[in-house]
Order: sequence, then C-alpha cells, then structure tokens
Amino acid sequence: MDREELALLRAKLESMLELRLNKSRTAMETMSQAASSPADAVDRAAMETQRHLELLMRERDLAEVREIREALSRILIGEYGACRECGEDIDVRRLRARPMVDLCVTCMTGLERERNRERDVPEEMIHSFGREVSGRILETV
Ligand SMILES: [Zn+2]
Repeated sequence: MDREELALLRAKLESMLELRLNKSRTAMETMSQAASSPADAVDRAAMETQRHLELLMRERDLAEVREIREALSRILIGEYGACRECGEDIDVRRLRARPMVDLCVTCMTGLERERNRERDVPEEMIHSFGREVSGRILETV
C-alpha cells in the first residue's frame, strides 16, 4: 500500500474515532438526564427499554472504538493492511469501505462459517448460555 493511501485511511479512521467518541459522550449525557427526571411506572418501563437499547448501541460503539484504535496502532507499528490470520494484504477496496478490518475476505468468510456453526446449538444450550449466544449474534448484526 502506498503512503498516500495509508494517510487517507488513517485520516478516515481518526475522524471515525472522533465521531464515535462524541456520540458516546452525548449518549451518556442524555442517559444521565433521563435518569434524573421523575416518571410513573409506565414511563419507567418504557425508559428502561430505551435505556437497554441505548446500552446495547453503546456497547457496539465501544467495540467499534476499540477496533478503530487497534487499526490506528497497526498503522503505527507498520502492520496495517495485512490479514491477521494469513498475513496476506487485505484488498484496499475493502479497507476503504471499512478501514478497521483486519481480515482478508477469505479468512472473514471462513470465520463467519465457523460462527454460523457455533450458532447451530441445541435449544437447552441456548437456554443456559443465552447471554453469550445473543451477545455473539449482536456482534454480527
Ligand atoms: Zn487472510
């Protein structure tokens, strides 16, 4: 990958990071405001649901923040753009679309196939490992 391309991707990662950090700061402020306003039982139930969704969204944002930071540190150590599984160069078009990816298409496809297999678990296991299973599904949405 040439320097110019790398600089562009780095700038993109940095602005994505800033955007997400601002967003999560705003979400935190909104949440603490909502928590302090009085509400009856129905309002409270609706608020809880809303809060739960916000937390889920926040978790996803935070996961993305982590991915972006990892990509930026790969740029610093000169490992950016290489697949973490096979070491091959990741297609630059793929990086332009989603600059924090660290897997090539081949390895990504293999991983997704594995995940789908994991998801194919018996009902009673889903029951006891419900949290983990739904967490995994959320990641891939
Ligand atoms: Zn690979």
